[in-house]
Amino acid sequence: NHGVGSWPARRARISPHRTALVQGDRTLTYAGLAHRADRLAAALTRLGVRRGDRVAYLGVNDITVFETLFATALCGAIFVPLNHRLSGTEIAYMLADSGASLLVHSADADSLVAAAGPLPPVLRTADFDTVAGDEPPGAEVTFDDPCLLLYTSGTTGKPKAAVLTHGNLTWNTVNQLAHFDVLSTDRALCIAPLFHCVGLGQITLPTLFKGGSVEPVAKFDPGAILARIGEAGITGFAAVPTMLQMMCQDPAWDTADLSSLTCVLYGGSPVQERVARAWLDRGVRLLQGYGMTEASPGVSMATHDGTLDHPVSAGVPHFFTDVAALRAEQVVPLGTEPAELLVRGPNVFAGYWNRPQETRDSFVDGSWFRTGDVVRVNDGWAHVVDRIKDVIISGGENVYPAEVEAVIVQLDEVESCAVVGVPDERWGEVGAAYVVARTDLDPGVLREHLEANLARFKVPKHLFFVDSLPRNATGKVRRVELRAMAAAAVG
Ligand code: AMP
Ligand code: MG
Repeated sequence: NHGVGSWPARRARISPHRTALVQGDRTLTYAGLAHRADRLAAALTRLGVRRGDRVAYLGVNDITVFETLFATALCGAIFVPLNHRLSGTEIAYMLADSGASLLVHSADADSLVAAAGPLPPVLRTADFDTVAGDEPPGAEVTFDDPCLLLYTSGTTGKPKAAVLTHGNLTWNTVNQLAHFDVLSTDRALCIAPLFHCVGLGQITLPTLFKGGSVEPVAKFDPGAILARIGEAGITGFAAVPTMLQMMCQDPAWDTADLSSLTCVLYGGSPVQERVARAWLDRGVRLLQGYGMTEASPGVSMATHDGTLDHPVSAGVPHFFTDVAALRAEQVVPLGTEPAELLVRGPNVFAGYWNRPQETRDSFVDGSWFRTGDVVRVNDGWAHVVDRIKDVIISGGENVYPAEVEAVIVQLDEVESCAVVGVPDERWGEVGAAYVVARTDLDPGVLREHLEANLARFKVPKHLFFVDSLPRNATGKVRRVELRAMAAAAVG
């Protein structure tokens, strides 16, 4: 068995007594984790879980997520962590779509589980010790077997699940370790949700691979996390940009002891330059990563040597990952002109679960995955320009909302913003800017700033001031919602 399920036992041969997982007063060594994963795998087998079956999970970040992941993988079954912030209807859809034969959940998800019914058989994490068995399944698992089903953010239509194999997750881990240093003495906080690829793939699995410790954090509280970093000597974590922003705006920021941090990764959506600078100015070794669920998730990452010169760049491709561009339906080298990024490598997924047509449509020339992102290269460093679907076409010109947003947030009065396209009789489409201001901001001042810094066709025609932006669990702005709001407002 070369699958991810074998990692705890393999680590336990090298460093049985090192701490693998720690949370509150609970600590698990690698030997302890291997033992518990075995006993839970035996229980899952007794509950009917077989090779290829799907085991869904609902709950906040917790040691039990890891126990369930490794136990499921030991059975040769597929782990399906679900977003506990979704509604019962959405969870019901994912349980049916994945065909889960067992739902594991913690107490915090009780009411969500009740709202999602009818359900497959259920196992509560509080009952792990009661059901534990002695006969681990001993399934043969190869790199090509599926390990994980991860639902993507789903900005169009019904959410679809990416199938990630044991090989995909292993190669992503190798890619990460080739890019930044992880030591067996490291102690990583896991603050990004584990139902999303940033939480699992970015620093967590690499740390467990190397024999360091991981501390899952159930709830994101910026002040508490800043305190925890100093208290526990945390060496690293992976975050989405909104988390970095909330932390550097927290009252605890100025006095927080960040000296133990050796690697902070962030990605998932664009970061504001001033947020990246705030962390770099504190001497934190900050690295931007770019990726997606379908790439397990790493595609490219900044380097410690280059990040000061390129604070908002997505860096260079990972060790075993190749990139190219799609131009006029041809696969060409990525260049300075913005084009759709293609990616290929052993970390790129096997396809979408039960969606053969969407799987075929998402690849060109058989092996190149179409990311849907417009990227350009500058000095050899990748810059994510925007997502193709978000591009606004105004009077025949391409307007990248991310470029406009970056100009708006230059104003100190602006906390965050999002620009979306709305139908326009004259131009086909025009931009509508949603702005969250931290203090009073005169729309005239904003307009002047936009006109001074952007070509006329890029300046949003409509400005809306709002208290907050609709975001999903990983901090991405829900543009579908904003577009509907904007269309209604100008319609
Ligand atoms: P997901 O499938 O939920 O992981 O989302 C992946 C998408 O997030 C990518 O296709 C990009 O559009 C966006 N994304 C990820 N990393 C970055 C980044 N560093 N900068 C800008 N956008 C990003
Ligand atoms: Mg996507």
